[in-house]
Order: sequence, then C-alpha cells, then structure tokens
Amino acid sequence: MKTLTNNETSHSKGLIFNIQKFSINDGPGIRTVIFFKGCPLRCPWCANPESQRACPEKMHDHANGNTTLVGEFKSIAEIIKVILQDRDYYEESNGGVTFSGGEVLNQAPFVIELAKAIKKENIHIICETTGFTRPAVFREFIKYMDFMFYDVKHWNGEAHRAATGVDNELIIHNLESALKAQKKLMVRIPIIPCFNDALSDAAHFGQLFKRIGVTKVELLPFHQFGLNKYTELGREYEMKDVRQLHAEDLLDFKKVLNEAGIAVKLNGSF
Ligand code: SF4
Repeated sequence: MKTLTNNETSHSKGLIFNIQKFSINDGPGIRTVIFFKGCPLRCPWCANPESQRACPEKMHDHANGNTTLVGEFKSIAEIIKVILQDRDYYEESNGGVTFSGGEVLNQAPFVIELAKAIKKENIHIICETTGFTRPAVFREFIKYMDFMFYDVKHWNGEAHRAATGVDNELIIHNLESALKAQKKLMVRIPIIPCFNDALSDAAHFGQLFKRIGVTKVELLPFHQFGLNKYTELGREYEMKDVRQLHAEDLLDFKKVLNEAGIAVKLNGSF
C-alpha cells in the first residue's frame, strides 16, 4: 500500500494554491474556498493537476507567455484574516468556508488546526475529500466538519489502485466511520469512461453503499475542464482523447443505483 503522506512534523503553515472568495458553487450560500495543494492519489482524469504535487510548481500559459508559481505556504492567521473579511456575507447567505484541493487530508495537522480556528469564529465548514488518511486522523478531522462531499471513485480495490495508485480500503473504512458518527455528507462518484461507468459497476456500487449505509450519491460525469492545465504544467494528459460524458449518458447507471435503493443526484437534482 502507498505510504500515507500527511505532513505530520510541521503544521505552522499550509500549502495553498488558491483562495477563492464569493464562491456560490461549493456548498450553500456565499463561501470562501481554500484549495490545498498535494494529493496522495494520481487520478488520470484529475481536473486540477496543479493540485496534485505537494510543492510549489510553475505553470506556463503559452497563449500569453506568462509563467506563474502555483502554491504558497500560508499561516493559519493569514488564512483566517482572508476568511473573516467576508463574515457578513456568510451570515446573510448561510454560507461559510469550503476546504478543497488536492486532498485536504494530505495536510491533516494543519487543516485540523485551521478548522478549529474557523469554528472558534462560529463559521460553517464544508470539505471536499476522498478520505484517504489514517482512521484516527480522519475521526479527529470530521469533528470540525459541518458537511462533507466524499468522493468514492471505485467499488473495487484493485481497480482503484490501478487507476489512482492507492487502494480504496481506507477510503471506504473512513466513509463508514463518518456514517457511524452521523456526519452530514454527500458521496460523489466521478463517472469515468472505461473505469467505472459500466452498469455492472453501478450494481456493485449499489451493493457497497447498501451494505455500509449510504442512502444517496451524486454522479459527476467525466469532463475535460482540466485539459489546458496539463499543457501549462508540461505534463502528459493521458485522457485527452476521451469523450466527455453528460447527464443523459448516465441515466441507466442512475436507474441501477435507484433499483438498489440509492437516491441519485445528477445534473443538480435527484
Ligand atoms: S483525488 Fe482529486 S485532486 Fe487527487 S488526483 Fe484524484 S481527482 Fe485529483
């Protein structure tokens, strides 16, 4: 199994590659989204490839000739200062802060300390995660989360490992522990051609979710939004010729999950 890469020695600063203010697409209300850089997975379809490496790196925009450095170390105080600038908007819109990535749990000690500081300000926190971290770390982290978008990429451990580089065992284990802790969450499955889009995959996902107590999921059709970023990073993108999927391509997949008793959100609605 791949070694867990949480930076457990130092959490005075976190590696952040973007702070997006006034977001209305990453949870309820108006939100500030903190994008954490670094991910232990290597999904070939990743739409944010600049988020994967746990170090600052250059991106070169060939259209305008600009080179930018992606990723900056920031302290909790620096991030809190930015977050608090929009407190009034969070309160008026029932919004808050969203942790995104990369994989937030790749910097778990820092993220937990940041979450504690945000909760002290009584601000709502959502995270987007695939839950790949040690169970004890995960249990501590979720204490501070008001809601989670939890990505499950494959029901089968071998297929998960072959595509992403890591097994899904921890991911499923931690999902079960979030469910047992009655955390509010939405499981999301990115549906990727020739990886997990067969109807037999839908049936297996259905069995898995039924067994562990997931009652609703969101399907995210494969898209090509990250295409140019690979060029800017000077990296090969092995999925560049793969056709994008649309909600209508996933209706049969949805039906199979529905037949297993799982409610399915697709294209924004159930
Ligand atoms: S888990 Fe998310 S951020 Fe990490 S490689 Fe996969 S798609 Fe990219």
